[in-house]
Amino acid sequence: MALFDWLKSKPDPDPPVVAQAPKVVAPVDIAALGKRLRLPATLLVPCKATGPLPASESKFGGEPWLGLAGDETGTAGRWPHCPACQVPLTFVLQVFQRDVPTLPLPPDCDLLQVFLCEESECPNVLMGQSFAFYVFCAASGVDSADAQEAGSEEGGSVTECALRLQTESELPSYQDLGTAELAALEAELDDAAIDAQWRPREGSKVGGYPAFIQDNEHPACNQCRQPMQFLLQICSDERQPPRSADVAPFEFAPHELMLGDLGTAYFFACHACAPQVVDTVFQTG
Ligand SMILES: [Zn+2]
Ligand SMILES: [Zn+2]
Repeated sequence: MALFDWLKSKPDPDPPVVAQAPKVVAPVDIAALGKRLRLPATLLVPCKATGPLPASESKFGGEPWLGLAGDETGTAGRWPHCPACQVPLTFVLQVFQRDVPTLPLPPDCDLLQVFLCEESECPNVLMGQSFAFYVFCAASGVDSADAQEAGSEEGGSVTECALRLQTESELPSYQDLGTAELAALEAELDDAAIDAQWRPREGSKVGGYPAFIQDNEHPACNQCRQPMQFLLQICSDERQPPRSADVAPFEFAPHELMLGDLGTAYFFACHACAPQVVDTVFQTG
């Protein structure tokens, strides 16, 4: 949603019920706010592999490292199956912590993996879509030799891609700022500058802030009820804006992963309730 539209759509605050003495509000220091909120993000730019990549690399698709991924479903060392419908899961992405040191993982884990259930009848599917995500955290130090053999018969519908890692630092969406912060921002910058600076990067990435396609959604942990922390996003459309339909007709991203209509899946974790509380938000164009 464009900034103008979003501002127009903001409901007016309710009128005060009782008259109150005016409060003295400290002015918002935009530079300090930006410094406090800026977070590192690592873009995971997919580059189509020219040959099979080793299971010990960070990548989309191909052969995953299967050292511990199956632990979630009680099948350590074997290809993981969906706990809800038992079909073999599709391997989507794995990121080793040595490649992205800021990757927030539980203690003793150094590998994050994302698998997908593509069974349309699966009871775990997201909001009427025909897929459900599973995120596993694993220790890659476990000997994976037998596991690779066991998993090598399973196919994958995600095209294998190496990752070009691009480290950025970014600010949250202006839509997540409070009224006073937004007013201070508008006093200093025009709408185009706000939109350019206070907008998280699109494309698959780890860390930073979610780049929502629709309105912002920040899930709360189902155990402690606190807001969860953004972990990563996986995008069907890996092109960075500005995009022009005339100049750059859409082509599938190198990983060929199509989630709904050019959708993005956003993953959140609760670090307080670690290790395995992860929630997924899915949005589509
Ligand atoms: Zn399933
Ligand atoms: Zn929690």
